[in-house]
Amino acid sequence: MTAAKKYRRWCVCACCGLEGWHSSNGWRHACYQRWVYAGRPDSGPPPPRRAGRGAEAASRIEDYVELRSWQVPREEAAERLGVSIRTLFRYDRRLKAGAS
Ligand SMILES: [Zn+2]
Repeated sequence: MTAAKKYRRWCVCACCGLEGWHSSNGWRHACYQRWVYAGRPDSGPPPPRRAGRGAEAASRIEDYVELRSWQVPREEAAERLGVSIRTLFRYDRRLKAGAS
């Protein structure tokens, strides 16, 4: 066990249930940073607003569903989410598969 390993503990985040590198209080790094950014409220990290980079497709899909519910056109939704329209079609397929 190296010293570096200690800092890079994988965990399931206590606030959002997503996996990530453990940072503090049982939260993953992204949530911990959100919490610090929010001024360290007693209630813990605020809910994630925007998906960061990497394996956060699930939360992007949630954002996409929300945008769609506002009748936002696909082109604009793609731009807002920072993905291609082809990716949105993939989300559509995934949502359809999950909804059945
Ligand atoms: Zn979290």
